[in-house]
Amino acid sequence: MSPTVDQYGLIGHPVAHSLSPFIHSLFARQTGQSMTYRLYDVEPENFRARVMELAAEGVRGLNVTVPHKVAAAQLCSELSARAQRAGAVNTLTFNEDGRITGDNTDGAGLIRDLRDNHGIALQGRHILIIGAGGAARGVLAPLLALAPARVVVANRTAEKAWALAADFADLGSVQGCGFEELTTPFDLVINATSASLSGQTPAVSPAVIGPGAVCYDMAYGKQDTPFMLWAKAHGCGTALQGWGMLVEQAAESFCIWRGVRPDTAPVLAALESR
Ligand code: NDP
Repeated sequence: MSPTVDQYGLIGHPVAHSLSPFIHSLFARQTGQSMTYRLYDVEPENFRARVMELAAEGVRGLNVTVPHKVAAAQLCSELSARAQRAGAVNTLTFNEDGRITGDNTDGAGLIRDLRDNHGIALQGRHILIIGAGGAARGVLAPLLALAPARVVVANRTAEKAWALAADFADLGSVQGCGFEELTTPFDLVINATSASLSGQTPAVSPAVIGPGAVCYDMAYGKQDTPFMLWAKAHGCGTALQGWGMLVEQAAESFCIWRGVRPDTAPVLAALESR
């Protein structure tokens, strides 16, 4: 029998410190939706079985985080075009007929934050993405769709950046490289590495920070992240962190599940003042 209140959640490993339950509870209250949102800490070897179990128990949908985004794409009956392109899923929906649909809202979340929350134009801009993991893969297609002059993907392990750029080369001007090849300035520098999580900054030349450049760290924290401090120390125009992306990708998932788009501004304000 299905539970009376619609259930959603986040599956990952680890997930204990996630702010997603807080964000989705504010969205639900704001839009008058009756739902719960729980955390599921599941190790990779148990991922598939646990997802199937939760679907059988009547859970309606799950957000997916590290390290399960690729495995999530593999168990879906259908993928959205953007999830297919990314090869990774952060939003699972369990349909009444048993189909599992997968989407990836990370790219839409980043674009909404940059363009709508911060008024940053991307068309004709020179964009550097540092990092070639799941997050970089998820945002490349939406960024290229906005017709930047070029996107360079640079990674500590250069081979991964080459491979990533090759996968998206049909969508626009995108090149992959190692850090040492970065000598020219960009308008927008996005840190899509997990370096900030261990208090580090990627070993990239400050020459990448063009005059008035926007530097955006996908990671976030109570204070400026190490990447933001590095960018400010080298004269960037604006340094931003990933709170807005976090809230916007959650809003996009909420909209997929509930068919209503929450107002993200008050939720972002509530998060930042915690
Ligand atoms: P992955 O584990 O898939 O990739 C990690 C990347 O970081 C790799 O490119 C890796 O390089 C690089 N890296 C790690 N440590 C260093 C270091 N010290 N110096 C240079 N490069 C380093 O992680 P994700 O792509 O899933 O996540 C990346 C970041 O984005 C995380 O901080 C995550 O929290 C954030 N994120 C934020 C979101 C938001 O909503 N704000 C949404 C999704 C992600 P190599 O290949 O050489 O190992």
